[in-house]
Amino acid sequence: MTSVGEKKPETATHLEVDVAVIGTGFAGLYALYKARKELGLRAHAFDDAEGVGGTWYWNRYPGARSDTEVTAYCYSFDRELFDAWKWTAKYPRQSEILAYLNLFADRYDLRRDITFGTHVDSVTWNDETSRWELRTDKGHHVTAQFVIEGVGLLSSTNLPTFPGQEKFKGEIYHTARWPHEEVSFAGKRVGIIGTGSSGVQCITEIAPECGHLTVFQRTPQYIVPAVHGPRDPKILESINADYEGYWESVLRSVTAFGFEESSVIGEGMSPEERDDIFDRQWNSGGGFQFMFATFSDVGTSLETNQAATDFIKRKIKAIVRDRETAAKLTPSDLYAKRPVCCDGYYETYNRDNVELVDVEAHPLVEITENGIRTNEHEYELDMLIFATGFDAVTGNYLKIDHRGRGGVELRTKWANRPLTHLGLMAAGFPNLFMIFGPMGPFTNQPPAHEAQVNWAADAIQHVREHHLEAIEPTQHAEDRWIATCDEIAYATLFPKVNSWINGANIPGKPITVMFYMAGMGAYMDQLRAAVKSGYADFTLLGPVPAG
Ligand code: FAD
Ligand code: NAP
Repeated sequence: MTSVGEKKPETATHLEVDVAVIGTGFAGLYALYKARKELGLRAHAFDDAEGVGGTWYWNRYPGARSDTEVTAYCYSFDRELFDAWKWTAKYPRQSEILAYLNLFADRYDLRRDITFGTHVDSVTWNDETSRWELRTDKGHHVTAQFVIEGVGLLSSTNLPTFPGQEKFKGEIYHTARWPHEEVSFAGKRVGIIGTGSSGVQCITEIAPECGHLTVFQRTPQYIVPAVHGPRDPKILESINADYEGYWESVLRSVTAFGFEESSVIGEGMSPEERDDIFDRQWNSGGGFQFMFATFSDVGTSLETNQAATDFIKRKIKAIVRDRETAAKLTPSDLYAKRPVCCDGYYETYNRDNVELVDVEAHPLVEITENGIRTNEHEYELDMLIFATGFDAVTGNYLKIDHRGRGGVELRTKWANRPLTHLGLMAAGFPNLFMIFGPMGPFTNQPPAHEAQVNWAADAIQHVREHHLEAIEPTQHAEDRWIATCDEIAYATLFPKVNSWINGANIPGKPITVMFYMAGMGAYMDQLRAAVKSGYADFTLLGPVPAG
């Protein structure tokens, strides 16, 4: 066994670093930059993709784009990069975001410290050396004092298996594992399962290209227009006038989406006044905007929520010509999932080559050689697309065999629900930082990634400057954080609706609160308070006796 200070020779498969990073999406790339460039530490990252980008490497399906306006869907710390990179549109396509992240990796020469095509299988704390030991599927053994995991909230794919799936003779794809080669839809009978954000983008984009498109929908969602277009010159002007002020306002907001959130309470307002506001937002677009820029209580008041759902239901009825199809597309639950926006989604069902099948009413029985059979009908298909989403939030963490202090297994610790402090660290797992881990903020992600990586970097700095070995949240702090998250979430409508937000999309997964729902501003206060208190909620281990 190698002890601290004893140098083990580095081989192709053995690496000794200060910081090991898992994932090279927005979070992991920034963590690698921060560890190497700003903290001056030895760092190395792994990603099972063959390139950087994470989400934007994997999700190449037609129509894939962000629904955060791009002025808030980028890094903020590098003003020069912000000015230099000319985004072409308000909601950029996957290829453009991927190019941006590649440029970021090149700008800071990050690739020399990344191993691609490699999955980290296990992350084990060595109590004797106070170091993490990582093992990969390619035989790497890495020793690191700190681990930063940017493994992705929405990254571990959900691929349900239906009886007979292996028999299907046509092409099969999952939106989040889309091939790099061009996929042709021309003249083909295409079936798609799933109508979440990925499904609706894909459906709308490919419908005009397919011979025939059959959409297999289990639960309809509320979809509002994105109103995609060029970047708003007014927003750009205001950012140029006060760059720091703009990003501060993003971090002070609830959603961190960079738009002005409403402080107007919808409850008690007249239906006409409310509809007026919903109508204005419908015409200017955006999913989070429809939920948070209209009224401050769409996510908390049953009355305002119902006003929002009634408004969208009327829109569906007005847009979709076929009565039966419109009825199938109309949700019956609350508007309390991650909001979805897409231009032209409901209009797509007015096309002659698009058909909607309600698989809640007529369950999908099996996949056959030639297509899909429900309990009512067999649909012949040349191509089948799974837009079935992700084992979100915890999926990738639980795929890694994490063992913390005293050999405690993360899988055991999280058997009933994920437990963290600040959505960033877990008791029993010293020096391990989870960027956008469970019980973190429910917001636009890149600003939150930066805030969390900055916080982790400060903690690492604190440990090193004070010649300590490790930092770890106390059990008490973690328990308090979970209770806080629960209390806040149950004051909203989100736990009342089943979706990936609470784990309900994966059969057998615990259904539980998985986010801190008080907003980005409140979350930033919590991060700052943790540091200001001198890490009072953390156990600081060390220093290691000399010799
Ligand atoms: P990811 O980008 O998911 O990267 C994680 C990487 O880690 C992946 O490459 C994964 O393969 C790798 N990895 C995981 N485990 C291991 C392991 N054990 N070993 C090696 N590698 C591993 N969010 C928004 O806020 N706004 C949006 O508009 C938005 N649009 C989206 C559109 C799509 C189509 C999707 C799918 C998601 C979208 N999201 C959006 C969420 C999106 O995931 C985040 O915004 C962000 O890109 C996540 O970055 P990340 O670095 O945290 O994780
Ligand atoms: P999702 O929202 O979880 O949607 C998955 C869809 O697949 C749902 O319609 C679901 O139906 C259906 N499904 C799953 N298993 C099924 C089964 N066994 N049989 C039939 N239907 C099944 O996943 P997603 O669309 O990939 O989106 C996930 C998240 O990623 C989004 O909420 C968002 O945060 C992010 N994203 C964002 C964008 C963007 O616009 N920026 C684009 C894509 C993704 P049920 O609802 O009945 O479970």
